Amino acid sequence: MDSNSENPNKQQPLTRKELRQLELQRRQQENRERQKLISRREFLKKLFVAGGVLLGGGIVWQIGSRREEQPRPATPPLSLDSLKRDYQDKELRLNSVLERVDQAFVSLEETLHGKLQSISEEDRAALMAPIETYKVNKKNIQRNKYSILISDLEARGEGSLRSPTELHITDLNYFFIQLIEDKTNVAAAFAPISRTVHLNGRFDPNNLLDALVVYHEIEHARQDAQVRMGLDTPQRKLEYNSFYTTGPGQRGRIIGAFEQEAYLKEVMVLDLLTDGRLREDAYKGKLDIDFYQQRLNVQQDQREILRFVLDGARIVYTSDTSLKSYAPSFVNFMNQQYKNRDFEIYAVNNNRLERVP
Ligand SMILES: [Zn+2]
Repeated sequence: MDSNSENPNKQQPLTRKELRQLELQRRQQENRERQKLISRREFLKKLFVAGGVLLGGGIVWQIGSRREEQPRPATPPLSLDSLKRDYQDKELRLNSVLERVDQAFVSLEETLHGKLQSISEEDRAALMAPIETYKVNKKNIQRNKYSILISDLEARGEGSLRSPTELHITDLNYFFIQLIEDKTNVAAAFAPISRTVHLNGRFDPNNLLDALVVYHEIEHARQDAQVRMGLDTPQRKLEYNSFYTTGPGQRGRIIGAFEQEAYLKEVMVLDLLTDGRLREDAYKGKLDIDFYQQRLNVQQDQREILRFVLDGARIVYTSDTSLKSYAPSFVNFMNQQYKNRDFEIYAVNNNRLERVP
């Protein structure tokens, strides 16, 4: 509160009030803009920070540390028994989520198969890739990460908590799945360091936005595998993981092209699912969020997530962006979204990561 009695504006109290009002409105607007569009990235940022990893130079990739899974310092220490019960409970809950996601992906695949004829073979393969990646990972017996945590706890007791054990995966197409522990409307997030897709317990197979968000994050798992396959020396593997290992207070990092690709695919899938209506609405400049909310069965608290996808669609279709060529306005739009959220953006050039100014 301003308590300055010598305020030069005292003779015009109304003006001063108005100014304040305007300032308040401006700040509220700024805040709204900042919060606009999911805090999907914010959530992911937290995951990046939670990571922390050292990779050995072995032939097998050692993925992630267990630091994320250990009880937080703020919570009272759990006994090994109650920790095990906690993991068992989460294992069951995740299995029920996985059943729903499996179901949603089967029906997404079926629906898309009937509609893919309208696009080129190349685009078809690109749009199916995340679905294929998800299917491949169904064979991963370590898919439910809690089962690994439980057996590690059983085998190593307290030791499994004190010294993080690295997870070994022989097939880079595989990734781990865990629950999102925080209360959030975000359906999924991908943590590259531990190659873990985090799923929200409230995933609804009838909510197409939920499915699209998981699709987007699986695309990140696929991209991550592609990068890792290209890293041929222990040094480069180490560099890749330290890229994502940002300390507290440091800005999160993203690979710009990966977000562009994932969002573009998400938009293209949504266009197919709506039989081209998305593209048409984007051209007309009439993307009615209420219509899409209803059509996709989106929850009220997910409207901002939906809005982001619709904004992306508008740019994609009005800029003639395709999987072969990203219009500069689309690239700028995406990069700006992440800059607004305080991310550093990087580009991949010859398997090297370079900061985008
Ligand atoms: Zn993303």
